[in-house]
Amino acid sequence: MAKKTIQDVEVKGLKVLARVDYNVPLNEDGSISDETRIVASLPTVKYLLDNGAKVILCSHLGRPKGERKMEFSLAPVAKRLAELLNVKVTLAPDCIGEEVEKMAAELQAGEILLLENLRFHKEEEKNDPEFAKKLASLAELYVSDAFGTVHRAHASTAGVAEYLPAVAGFLIGKELSVMGEALENPVRPLVAILGGAKVKDKIGVITNLLNKCDTLIIGGGMAYTFYKAKGYEIGDSLLDEANLGLAKELMETAKAKGVNMVLPVDNVIATDFAADAEYKQVPADQFIPGWQGMDIGDKTREMFAEIVKSAGTVIWNGPMGVFEFPNFEKGTEAIAEACAESNAITIVGGGDSASAITKLGYADKITHISTGGGASLEFLEGKTLPGVAALNDK
Ligand code: AMP
Repeated sequence: MAKKTIQDVEVKGLKVLARVDYNVPLNEDGSISDETRIVASLPTVKYLLDNGAKVILCSHLGRPKGERKMEFSLAPVAKRLAELLNVKVTLAPDCIGEEVEKMAAELQAGEILLLENLRFHKEEEKNDPEFAKKLASLAELYVSDAFGTVHRAHASTAGVAEYLPAVAGFLIGKELSVMGEALENPVRPLVAILGGAKVKDKIGVITNLLNKCDTLIIGGGMAYTFYKAKGYEIGDSLLDEANLGLAKELMETAKAKGVNMVLPVDNVIATDFAADAEYKQVPADQFIPGWQGMDIGDKTREMFAEIVKSAGTVIWNGPMGVFEFPNFEKGTEAIAEACAESNAITIVGGGDSASAITKLGYADKITHISTGGGASLEFLEGKTLPGVAALNDK
């Protein structure tokens, strides 16, 4: 990896400001409903503690929109982190200011100070230099480990790196090396599977992946725009009319580049967009006017699973159907299962695909589940991620 990591620098005795992702979902009573992100931060936090650093952690939680709204306090996270690590975690009353500066200055090696929600200050998302400077003044080294936010240039993800030596933590290190390798030096054949609702959101990814992969599978609501571009009837299915021409162009580019672009050969279609809608399965070219595509069909599930099983590397992002409704979740689950059973290097990004994997208990059978939906998409697009660009080169 081109960027320095925590293993490339001395951390002993240093006050280290680590930007982690503790944007965890909360229940109505304020308890944490999913602690995956806290657990994911532990390798970096433990490494810093074990190597004698004074650890200052910072994160955002929810959308307090620049106001001090205590329902978005990181207090539940401080409590859970202390339990998980069995060390004292002190929650600062804010993320900047005199009192916080005093607490940071008095911090001892092996102790953790968790700063209060960064987004209590609107300057965070504005990447305000003064705010970034104040954050940086708390520490002597900056560690970036919140992959979910590196595609945003915020004060805590990019701004602070102007004022401190800046390195990657283990989570970001793994994201960059696994995804970087898959794009630049993949075990072939490289198969990309893209799904979800909007063609618009995935244009950049498709365009970049057409230069990299051997097979590109398109499923989910997105597929119907490609059907339409091929002249198929799609009934009332999702259609990105503005990008019809582009869909056609992308299919032509795939052909010209020798990339096998694969669309569903059958679909589960329904009378309405509803969990209890009447539904049936039809071949791709036999859509019924007035009905809409909700999931990929049996034959498609088998075909996609075969492609996944014989792949060298699989990159999957986006559901194959309206998986929120049980009648239309089979396609997404089939891809999750195929990824789990494949001997390929499997990389899953995007919240929906990742939760399908977790729900089915396949998480430990996947090479890498990306912790950042938006960030992983931008990485796959080949875009520069500001929070990564800000780190020191090796
Ligand atoms: P995205 O945010 O673009 O990845 O899209 C995710 C959403 O796409 C999920 O909420 C799915 O329900 C939705 N989706 C997937 N397939 C379809 C479909 N055939 N029709 C409508 N929505 C779909």
